Amino acid sequence: MDVILFGPPGAGKGTQAKRLVDALRIPQISTGDMMRAERAAGTALGKQFDDFMSKGLLVPDQLVLSLIEQRLKQADAKSGAIFDGYPRTVAQAVALDGMLAAQDRKISVVVSMEVSLPEMIERIALRRTCESCGHIYHLRYNPPPSQNACGACGGKLVQRKDDTEEVVRTRNEEYLAKTAPILGHYSQKGVVKTVNGVGSLDEITARIKSAIGVS
Ligand code: AMP
Repeated sequence: MDVILFGPPGAGKGTQAKRLVDALRIPQISTGDMMRAERAAGTALGKQFDDFMSKGLLVPDQLVLSLIEQRLKQADAKSGAIFDGYPRTVAQAVALDGMLAAQDRKISVVVSMEVSLPEMIERIALRRTCESCGHIYHLRYNPPPSQNACGACGGKLVQRKDDTEEVVRTRNEEYLAKTAPILGHYSQKGVVKTVNGVGSLDEITARIKSAIGVS
């Protein structure tokens, strides 16, 4: 099964994708995580990503497409994936449809997670991410056992460089201008399901599972 978790920055896509991995037994594919890993490794490609990411701008499609192409060739992604933060443009969606079709696959559901701008900004300001394993916390709604250490692996908790209010506003503008039109692309195929992205983590997971049709 191939599923897209869709929504604006701070909608909870990453948190919910990680929760769905066990239930669906397919991997999370997060282009944002892949880009941060490349940036942390200090590669030339990582530096190119950072030029866009630190400003809240989308990375150009041609740089993203090779990442996703490589990832889809890996063995764990052969029978499906939870796409988180990809596609971000209609061109990326068309490319993804083509790559999946080449493997006799298609997107079964696009789960569109709805949250308001003030909610996004509040969530992102209080978001902390583990530098080592990528686990995501919210200091109020999903607090770590200690402010500085990950409960899952003991790694250091950090605030993402692009999680400032100013950068989030740019990320939201990019979302509205370039990413939101993807919903039109998938609505035509009849696969979009909308869920309320506000509530407890368990409530939202249950809504997503029901939208996908799994228990
Ligand atoms: P995310 O972790 O999904 O919030 O992504 C963080 C940042 O990485 C975005 O603001 C973009 O700069 C970049 N990024 C991640 N995924 C994509 C993508 N599919 N297309 C373009 N840029 C992306």
